[in-house]
Amino acid sequence: MSTSITSAATARQELGSEFAGELIGPDDAGYDEARQVYNAMIDRRPALIARCANPDDVAKVVSFARDREALLAIRGGGHNGAGLGTCDDGIVIDLSLLKDIEVDPEARTVRVGGGCTWGEVDAATGEHGLATPSGIIATTGVGGLTLGGGLGHLTRKCGLAIDNLLEAEMVLASGERVVASADGHADLYWAIRGGGGNFGVVTSFLFRLHEVGTIIGGPTFWPVEQGAEVLSAYREFMPAAPRELNGFFAFATVPPGPPFPEEIHLRKVCGVVWCFVGSEEDAAKAMAPLLEALPEPLMHGVQPMPHAALQGAFDELYPKGDQWYWRADFVNEIPDEAVEIHAKFGAEMPTMKSTMHLYPIDGAAHDLASSDTAWNYRDAKWGAVFAGVDPDPSNVGAIGDWSRGYQEALHPYSAGGAYVNMMMDEGQERVRASYGDNYERLARIKASYDPENLFRVNQNIKPRA
Ligand SMILES: Cc1cc2nc3c(=O)[nH]c(=O)nc-3n(C[C@H](O)[C@H](O)[C@H](O)COP(=O)(O)OP(=O)(O)OC[C@H]3O[C@@H](n4cnc5c(N)ncnc54)[C@H](O)[C@@H]3O)c2cc1C
Repeated sequence: MSTSITSAATARQELGSEFAGELIGPDDAGYDEARQVYNAMIDRRPALIARCANPDDVAKVVSFARDREALLAIRGGGHNGAGLGTCDDGIVIDLSLLKDIEVDPEARTVRVGGGCTWGEVDAATGEHGLATPSGIIATTGVGGLTLGGGLGHLTRKCGLAIDNLLEAEMVLASGERVVASADGHADLYWAIRGGGGNFGVVTSFLFRLHEVGTIIGGPTFWPVEQGAEVLSAYREFMPAAPRELNGFFAFATVPPGPPFPEEIHLRKVCGVVWCFVGSEEDAAKAMAPLLEALPEPLMHGVQPMPHAALQGAFDELYPKGDQWYWRADFVNEIPDEAVEIHAKFGAEMPTMKSTMHLYPIDGAAHDLASSDTAWNYRDAKWGAVFAGVDPDPSNVGAIGDWSRGYQEALHPYSAGGAYVNMMMDEGQERVRASYGDNYERLARIKASYDPENLFRVNQNIKPRA
């Protein structure tokens, strides 16, 4: 593909006045800003960024790209670690103008434009004391997080993001607009619940809402030197806890500012970040078995707060523009040998922002079977993520070495595949392993909806020949 055939000038001419959004090419002011994604390690130069104003615009650009056999990327929130919301030389469909949010408190649903971030959705649903499960960071895009699965603070109580997805309005590779739900295009509806952006562009999502207003949340930290002891207690505690309680285990460094007490600023710690849906009294009861089994923590910062406040708690620490290197794996059990490896790498975090999280995958997430949606690892107990993070590009080597080394050392104790949303570009075998027994069905559905693999800037499912 030559860049000239997808230049902004050509696109302007061909899409004409019917295109309501913005077309941005390398010669346009604002191009450099428009091409930036969240992970500063990703520095791609698309030939054209088509910022679509409505689903018709999306359909036009899909057809434009398909007819020219151009490389096509879809950008939701732009958070993907591997940079799968952009590409070099091709066309980017930027959905950031698709921001409509309609909450229906009676029906307990929210309809969300394909370019929204979770913070925008949480703010709107929170006004009604309602929420739908997402992740742990408000700036992440609804699009990518949902289509890959969606693991977060409400997983144990309400399931994955996809478990609450009722329908999706989509533009297919053919340019056709369809609605995928249990009642129409059921195969597509199955595939997009975990299959990522492989099947089309989602222009709006309809989610089920739950009564989640004020939650009891925040971190409990112990010294990193107690990592093995805390993790050993946590691995027994979490799966036995009530569904109302979500607590992800973390190795982290205490940020140097409020609300953290000065005496622990910049201290390496291990701990749990909690989210309890219910009363303060019940939260204390649910957390007690872990807290009573362990030494006095450095900090127990748990308090009532709006769900949206917990979702936004990490936003300041992790703004756009840091260097990120991700690795991930699903985990069924954490044997003693794995605990020792965690303790070693946890103590060796190379930078202040580098971190390891173990997100629980049980409770409501286990109410569905692995074949009920494309998301295969329903019987895993945790999603582990090893994230090397730093603002300074000269630390790219150190953060990459740490997260790669950590994941590789633990991989023999993993369930085999990884959560696609937290992988880098790790090759086709890794993608297959992550979809396991669901891969063949996904490949057949891909062949019927996207036989030419137009949507391939993703953790790609190849259409079955
Ligand atoms: C700081 C941070 C915290 C995170 N925390 C969590 C977490 O708590 N839980 C969790 O599950 N994940 C988490 N993630 C991972 C996140 O789910 C993925 O990075 C996801 O890909 C981001 O979605 P996006 O829309 O922002 O990304 P983008 O980079 O815009 O897109 C990522 C992929 O999704 C596809 N895509 C996006 N929108 C659409 C759409 N509307 N239609 C079709 N395809 C689309 C793109 O084609 C691309 O392949 C986190 C990521 C970051 C950077």
